[in-house]
Amino acid sequence: MAATKGKVYLIGAGPGDPGLLTIKAKECIESADVVVYDYLASPYLLDYAGKDAEIIYVGKKGGDHTLTQDKINQLLVDKASQGKAVARLKGGDPFVFGRGGEEAQELLEDGIAYEVIPGVTSAISAPAYAGIPVTHRDHTSFVSFITGHERPDKSESRMQWDIFAKSDATLVFLMGVKNLGNIVENLIKNGKPADTPVALVRWGTTTRQQTVTGTLETIVERVKAAGLKSPAIIVVGHVVSLREELAWFDKKPLFGKRIVITRARAQASGLSAELTRLGAQCIQIPTIKIAPPKDRIPLEAAIDNLKDYQWLVLTSVNGVKYFFDTLFEKGKDVRALGHLKFACIGPVTKERLADYGIISDILPETYRAESVVAAFSDVAIKGQKVLLPRAKKARTILPQELTQMGAQVDEVTAYETELAGAGKDELISLLKAGSVDAVTFTSSSTVTNFMSLLEKEDGPALLKNVVIASIGPITSDTARSLGIPPTIEADPYTISGVIDVLIDHWTKDNLQTP
Ligand code: SAH
Repeated sequence: MAATKGKVYLIGAGPGDPGLLTIKAKECIESADVVVYDYLASPYLLDYAGKDAEIIYVGKKGGDHTLTQDKINQLLVDKASQGKAVARLKGGDPFVFGRGGEEAQELLEDGIAYEVIPGVTSAISAPAYAGIPVTHRDHTSFVSFITGHERPDKSESRMQWDIFAKSDATLVFLMGVKNLGNIVENLIKNGKPADTPVALVRWGTTTRQQTVTGTLETIVERVKAAGLKSPAIIVVGHVVSLREELAWFDKKPLFGKRIVITRARAQASGLSAELTRLGAQCIQIPTIKIAPPKDRIPLEAAIDNLKDYQWLVLTSVNGVKYFFDTLFEKGKDVRALGHLKFACIGPVTKERLADYGIISDILPETYRAESVVAAFSDVAIKGQKVLLPRAKKARTILPQELTQMGAQVDEVTAYETELAGAGKDELISLLKAGSVDAVTFTSSSTVTNFMSLLEKEDGPALLKNVVIASIGPITSDTARSLGIPPTIEADPYTISGVIDVLIDHWTKDNLQTP
């Protein structure tokens, strides 16, 4: 659904898990001219915005308003009056304690057209991710969504504590963490049994989710002990006891683990999505940027002279990508490769080549000399011309081995890796706070670049209690040489290998903890 010009869309952005956005909302964000978002809307959703869209943060964290509600309303009116399609993202559902009603009234008053795209409210989804169904036939006949924000000493309170206390309803309080003591006190005072189960779910549906349970009698103490703060949903009622049986999200193998991903941004998303699916919280600190070679002539010349080669050896997914990009740019296609034999290092490179319709003839598993020699041992490589398009400054072992076997190797730069430094300050402060559980390294250059981001710090000391996960022996050697010996190493030497070894590591860890 493309957004219409001159209109404001009040969009429920869901509770935090980026997958809980509606399809209609996604399409609307994709086509909006302006995206206005606040504190509770997941920043991941901004990735859907068009590259020319204007993105405006209007804040609101506790009392700390970046823009007042009046100014937000005015902003929406102004942008829509300029003929723009405006996507106004709101956490959860816009009409559930989201001031969506007030914003719609304001738009109506100013004659601005609007639509509402409901969202998944945290009032239901945060409990659901904690294993608490807000209704259940054995426990409750209705559910109330209640503001936890109203001070109990407000002279004209609209809070019907007697009704809340006497019913068997599930009570769901939003915005109530600071007021928890008063909420509990009022419920008990009005006759709710002190042993009624209570849960608080903070940052529900996200990988930062934290849940504390207790009873009306114990919850204040427990929340204090856990240091749990806003934003959280408070659930009061017997359904909370079902969590014991129904909890699922926090049982994911990597739940609660904070893992740093150092791959280039374009490549990080696959690893990040998989780790997130397993419950981890991923912190993307891309340490390398992949770019086309500054000098493109050698690769272009090699492609012009493909007829001279008998073998094409590809060592990485990036090598495959940049080789084919250049081939296509030169107006050629795979028919120019028909006479060639192919070797790919590693199964992932092989898969990427297969995407272009080519099956690799041989597949050395790794760069290690033995592996290359073994793979080429049955091949009459002597006297053959081999084209090796790969990263600038790549290791020399592969061309050396092939040359020793009598091949004539032309190594050309297909892409370059550069140091990327975005997120450096965030990284250092997370490490200093002890908030990182693991760092994943997927190549030697991620290690080298990562350590150069930390050059002003004592890197090895900062990483002392952090799990260092390496993709394979070469990356591990580099890590060791820089003073951060890997805690775990993948086998096979692939991204899935890294994921498996992380799971293994923490599953074993869990078993050892009594
Ligand atoms: N319109 C939103 C609610 C906004 S009021 C919705 O439908 O979800 C803000 C309150 O929502 C917070 O104080 C907190 O109580 C709750 N909240 C929002 N997102 C949350 C989340 N991911 N986990 C727990 N509580 C959340």
